[in-house]
Amino acid sequence: MTTEVNVELPESLRSHRMRATASESVLQGTVHWSAVQSLWFTGMSAAAIAGGVAWFSWGALLLFAGSTGIVLLFGHSLGSHRKLIHDSFQCPLWLEYVLVYLGVQVGLAGPLGLLRQHELRDYAQRLPDCHPYLRHGRGFWVDAWWQLHCELRLVNPPHIRIEERIASDRFYQFLERTWMWQHLPVALLFYLWGGWGFVACGVCARVAAGVFGHWLIGYFAHNHGEMHHEVRDAAVQGHNVRWTSLLTMGECWHNNHHAFPGSARLGIQRGEWDPGWWLLLALRRFGLVWSLRLPEDLPFRSELVRRNEHGQHRKSPWADVFQAILRPVELRGELVWPGRYLGAAGLLCLLGPDTPSRLDRGASRMAFKLPDRTILGLPALCVAASRRDILPVRVAAILLAPIAVLFEHSRRHR
Ligand SMILES: [Zn+2]
Ligand SMILES: [Zn+2]
Repeated sequence: MTTEVNVELPESLRSHRMRATASESVLQGTVHWSAVQSLWFTGMSAAAIAGGVAWFSWGALLLFAGSTGIVLLFGHSLGSHRKLIHDSFQCPLWLEYVLVYLGVQVGLAGPLGLLRQHELRDYAQRLPDCHPYLRHGRGFWVDAWWQLHCELRLVNPPHIRIEERIASDRFYQFLERTWMWQHLPVALLFYLWGGWGFVACGVCARVAAGVFGHWLIGYFAHNHGEMHHEVRDAAVQGHNVRWTSLLTMGECWHNNHHAFPGSARLGIQRGEWDPGWWLLLALRRFGLVWSLRLPEDLPFRSELVRRNEHGQHRKSPWADVFQAILRPVELRGELVWPGRYLGAAGLLCLLGPDTPSRLDRGASRMAFKLPDRTILGLPALCVAASRRDILPVRVAAILLAPIAVLFEHSRRHR
């Protein structure tokens, strides 16, 4: 008999593709050498070094840089991660296939295998504890050995439910069976184009760098770097690895990703360069992608705690609300109203024409959205009302704000 543990989990995990059969299911397991994984990485690295030295040319180096950039940006970041795994934007099916195919060219796994690995880690990292393999929790060298050459065998692994759309897709099933062989046609093409040097740099070095880089960023993104948010009671936190934003196509903003996994945009704050997001914006101009999901479109997570610039928790729950009230009025923000209590006319009467407001019957709570933060519940109404041109309304809103914050704070910590 299986007992589901999901009743004790945060709301956000109940709709996860993973389901545990026991609370220790992501904890009890052993790490074993994986012949396929180890030989794949070692073979590609050896061929890259030997071939790169024997047949070096600037053209081959350029091919390495160009093809690596393309498969990381279009394939891994957009195809595999932001689309297939998180479905954070919409696009035509043919484009999804092209992007996912390029993702397979990174050489990490097949599309379904990559999805399974990602979901297991994502699920395990959000639980109070998980095996150190799943959270990059041992030292640098042990982690390198584990992630590049070994696999984790869990005693009682969680189930995964992959939606029909992906699980029964013939193309994805084909790529899953043949992902290693998918490098052969590219190798042949590069051989005809520039000989063995092009194969060594354009295929072997690209795969070796992709697999190695994926581990290296994974290690740092779970151990070192800035944090804007903390996921309460999670086994491990994500960190932003700022200096790798262009190399990783924006995937390095891993603290943001732990906070907002369903967001198509990973670099959220000013100065957080995110080439994957830039590409999505460009594709949107041509009508090739749409419905790009942002942090404010995601459901509220009670386990998410904001930190200030210095990485500490915000000093008080008041800071967010009062900073918003004290903001210059030009930074107006927008009130999103669930429409449960008042219709559009009532809302206009309450807030006047000055504050932009939007009726959204699908919204679960009222929210005041500023470019860099969202304030929820009654405090949102106070911030919105504090922007009215009528002085008594403003004063009342500011006076009522502390009570609203107290109320909201007690609601979250019930
Ligand atoms: Zn993570
Ligand atoms: Zn992810």
